[in-house]
Amino acid sequence: MRIILLGSGSYSGTPKPFCGCENCTRARRFPIYRRTRFSLYLGKLKAIVDPSPDLHYHLEHLNEKVEQVLITHPHFDHIAGVPELQIFEKLTFYSHEETLRVVKWLQEAFVGEKRWEHVSLSFGEWKSFGNFNVLHFRTPHKPGDVAGGFVIEIGGKKIGITGDTGPEILKDEKTLESLTDLDLLVVEMTHRESIPGTHLGVEDALRLVELTKPELAVFAHISHNNYPHEILERKVMERGIRGIVGRDFLHLDI
Ligand SMILES: [Zn+2]
Ligand SMILES: [Zn+2]
Ligand SMILES: [Zn+2]
Repeated sequence: MRIILLGSGSYSGTPKPFCGCENCTRARRFPIYRRTRFSLYLGKLKAIVDPSPDLHYHLEHLNEKVEQVLITHPHFDHIAGVPELQIFEKLTFYSHEETLRVVKWLQEAFVGEKRWEHVSLSFGEWKSFGNFNVLHFRTPHKPGDVAGGFVIEIGGKKIGITGDTGPEILKDEKTLESLTDLDLLVVEMTHRESIPGTHLGVEDALRLVELTKPELAVFAHISHNNYPHEILERKVMERGIRGIVGRDFLHLDI
C-alpha cells in the first residue's frame, strides 16, 4: 500500500522566514532539508490526512485525485489547506464535530457550493465505512479543546497517526492499546524536548514507539528548532527502532 508523507514539518515550516538557525540556514541552501507543513496521502483510500497550508504545493507534485479528507484537529498547520481542495467537486471529510465546524466555515468563506460531505467522528469510537474503519482518539494538545489522532484499518493493514500530542499520551493506557499491532505509526516529533499538553520531544516520541512496537514508525511534524536531520536519524538508529525520520514526499510501501 502506497503512502506518501507530503509534508514533514510543523507550524512554521523549515526554513521559517527570517530565522537564522542551523536547520533554516541549511534548508535555504539545500532543498532536501526543507520541511513543509504536515500532511499525509493514503493511496488506497485516495485520502489526505490534514490539508496543510502547503496543500497547493503538495497537490501540484502529487497530481492525483483526492476523495476523502481526514483532519486531526483545527490548528492552522493542519486545516488551512481546505480552500485548496476546491479543485475537487466531490469530497468526504471525516473529523470531530468541532473540527468540521471550521471546515464548513472555510468552505463558506472561500469555496462555495460543492458536493462535500462531512462525517462526524466521536473520540474513542470505531466507525466503519465499508472498505475502511477509523478510530479517532483524543490527544492532549493545547491551545483549544479538540485534538486527536487516527487509527485506520484498510486492506488488511492498520495505520496509526498520532496527530499533535503532548507527552501525556504515554500514560494514556487506552490510547496506547489502540496503537498496538500497527503496520505503520506516524508519530509527531516536534521539538528537542517535550512540552506538556502540547507536543512530543525526541525522547518521548521514541518512547511511544518502544511502547507500541509498530512494524514501521515514521517521525514527522518536525520543527525547525529540533536537531538536524542526521542527528535525529542517529538517535532513532541507536535505539534499534525500525523507524524513518520523515522528509517531504517520503514514499512508503507497507
Ligand atoms: Zn501542528
Ligand atoms: Zn529556524
Ligand atoms: Zn496543533
